[in-house]
This record gives sequence, C-alpha cells and structure tokens, in this order.
Amino acid sequence: MSATIVPPTERECERCGRRDRWDDETENWVIDGRRGSPTCIHEWDINGSYNPVAEST
Ligand SMILES: [Zn+2]
Repeated sequence: MSATIVPPTERECERCGRRDRWDDETENWVIDGRRGSPTCIHEWDINGSYNPVAEST
C-alpha cells in the first residue's frame, strides 16, 4: 500500500482565531480574513507535524 500525504490547505489558530489558507502559486500561507493577533504565538489546529508547546497551568 502507498500512503499519499495530503498537506493541509487551511489552518486556524486556536488562540486568536486567525485563519490561513495555503496558496499553491506562491507556496505560502495567506491570511484569510482579518482576525487574529499579531503578537499571538499561533497554535494551528493542524494535526501531525506541528508540536505545540506545552502550556503551564
Ligand atoms: Zn494566533
């Protein structure tokens, strides 16, 4: 069997609510909308390669 890795085309920050979408032409994330904080340490709701920093409670 062969596994096909499909990269995510959308992501949303779980902290500030910012949404990005992937642009194939520029191969970059494009901000979709105006929500979000510029000082936010974005924590994207993408499963897989991203390792969120553990929060201290
Ligand atoms: Zn954020």
